[in-house]
Amino acid sequence: MAVMEIIRMGHPTLRQTAEPWPVDKLGTPEFEKLIADMRDTMYAAGGIGLAAPQVDVPYRIAVVEIPESGTRYGDVPPLPFAVYINPTITVLGESPAGYWEGCLSVPGMMGYVERPQHIRVDYLDENGEAKSLEAKGFAATVFQHEFDHLLGMLYVDRIRDMSLFVYEDEYRLFHAEVNANEI
Ligand code: ZN
Repeated sequence: MAVMEIIRMGHPTLRQTAEPWPVDKLGTPEFEKLIADMRDTMYAAGGIGLAAPQVDVPYRIAVVEIPESGTRYGDVPPLPFAVYINPTITVLGESPAGYWEGCLSVPGMMGYVERPQHIRVDYLDENGEAKSLEAKGFAATVFQHEFDHLLGMLYVDRIRDMSLFVYEDEYRLFHAEVNANEI
């Protein structure tokens, strides 16, 4: 097990556009180690997603797992662990909804962000197989948050009302019960 350092907002790698992961490097020891380390790092940090740029690896790879329960986002539908390589998003339904988001690269903060709530994700899995899935609701938000990292974007860029960019403690004190879409 190897837990990597998660870089924080201000580190230039988080603002770079990530490179596609070379298909001929799938399955290499370097690739397998990176995936295993990203998984360990996400678990150790208690996150539900981690993008490679967050561990200073500027490639288009992300891992996501929404556990059955016990996330800091409350009770949300689970999503099993999976690796998303060179993913693209197609918006299937605009109808945006807002969620309170946090980010391991912006520790201690939460922000209210509206995003489209019905998307398709096309990607390669860790075996190089082309896959496609549809996501709605919170899962759609998680994918958009993680894949924004591959474009050099952070959720803070998408906060429209900066009065809804708050510390986690104040979120719990003043905002958690107030907004109907909060999860
Ligand atoms: Zn993030």
